[in-house]
Amino acid sequence: EMFGQLTTGLESAWNKLRGTDQLTKDNIAEPMRDIRRALLEADVSLPVVRSFIESVTEKAVGTDVIRGVKPEQQLVKVVNDELVQLMGGEVSDLVFAKTAPTVILLAGLQGVGKTTVCAKLAYYLKKMGKSCMLIAADVYRPAAIDQLTILGKQVGVPVYSEGTEAKPSQIAKNGIKEAKSKKTDVIIVDTAGRLQVDKAMMSELKEVKRAVNPTEVLLVVDAMTGQEAASLVSTFNVEIGITGAILTKLDGDSRGGAALSIKEVSGKPIKFVGRGERMEDLEPFYPDRMAQRILGMGDVLSFVEKAQEVMRQEDAEELQKKILSAKFNFNDFLKQTQAIAQMGSFSRIIGMIPGMNKVTPAQIREAEKNLKFMESMINVMTPEERERPELLAESRERRIRVAKESGKNERQVSQLVAQLFRMRAQMQKMMGAMQGQDTPDMEG
Ligand code: GDP
Repeated sequence: EMFGQLTTGLESAWNKLRGTDQLTKDNIAEPMRDIRRALLEADVSLPVVRSFIESVTEKAVGTDVIRGVKPEQQLVKVVNDELVQLMGGEVSDLVFAKTAPTVILLAGLQGVGKTTVCAKLAYYLKKMGKSCMLIAADVYRPAAIDQLTILGKQVGVPVYSEGTEAKPSQIAKNGIKEAKSKKTDVIIVDTAGRLQVDKAMMSELKEVKRAVNPTEVLLVVDAMTGQEAASLVSTFNVEIGITGAILTKLDGDSRGGAALSIKEVSGKPIKFVGRGERMEDLEPFYPDRMAQRILGMGDVLSFVEKAQEVMRQEDAEELQKKILSAKFNFNDFLKQTQAIAQMGSFSRIIGMIPGMNKVTPAQIREAEKNLKFMESMINVMTPEERERPELLAESRERRIRVAKESGKNERQVSQLVAQLFRMRAQMQKMMGAMQGQDTPDMEG
């Protein structure tokens, strides 16, 4: 079973949370140790494990309790989302050149499945409706050229070769000329593989890369080599500059270390995975599907997502009701500011709004400081005061207490209270206007 070992290792983490009613720093500690152990046993590289554990812990403890969702289910969801992020988030599509042909350069050590990947990729592209050509630039192993020729025939794609005498960069150049004359859409260049990374290999690769100016440079790595695969991707990227990795032999990998480490260690995404020896056993790499497969809990995930969605809807309806009945209070105020904070830092959001790019970094810092400032006062209010801001409006004593406990002065508290009532009035006006749209005009 692919990644079976990791799946089993993670299961003990969920089991330890059974019977608890909330994720806390304390009750999460032991399950997190299980997750850490499972990842290390899966051969995920240590720095990756560390930062993963850190961000899962932080997110898990910070999440709101969702009605009907058990803590262990909540943790599954957090781990899933972080796994998806770890593996690059979105699927990383193959990039095609704006004007054909697209040149894909394939590199990799011997035995990783590079030759097979050439043919599999050609087969995949052919199914997409692209015409392909393979170029055999691995001149050190005559058998490699023969193998590529045979595989090319098998998938119905021409293979360009000049035997073992010519220079790889020259073969590649000639091959591209030939492919252009045939109006080929995609050219895949197979380069020499060696038993290990060496200078000669790197400099030859660099030369071929210069000669063919590829759109994609993909390093083929073997999943069975775990975190070693990740550091290879990193090395090749530093040495020659690559655009991504192809991870082969995933079908035989029960651990998962390579799939989980590559993006984080090298900064480069996995674009395809090989899952068998047949030509159709190459597919794009989907981080979300991979995470689900690792956790083996697709139904739990969709359940938690649905529950979250219901909560969000109820929250929004609740807020709307409150605004209409003039009950918008400090808790809602906090929820709103926290929602903004959760969306990422203020500055990034403002940067995304068209026309807002004239806001200076200083102004943004000021806005962020303002939010923190207001929060510190709300934090020391009693639950009743947050619920009913009128209490603060009516009692100077209460305002003085809030000021004292938050280290602010009375005037600042008064301003905050006034601001809340202003917001309330504004919101009611807004809602009134929105509702007025569907009611008959009384003045007319
Ligand atoms: P190269 O030396 O890198 O060109 O490797 P080859 O393409 O010759 O492949 C080496 C061996 O690995 C062959 O027996 C392939 O059939 C096998 N192979 C390649 N990819 C996969 C894969 O995704 N899964 C499995 N199970 N075997 C694979």
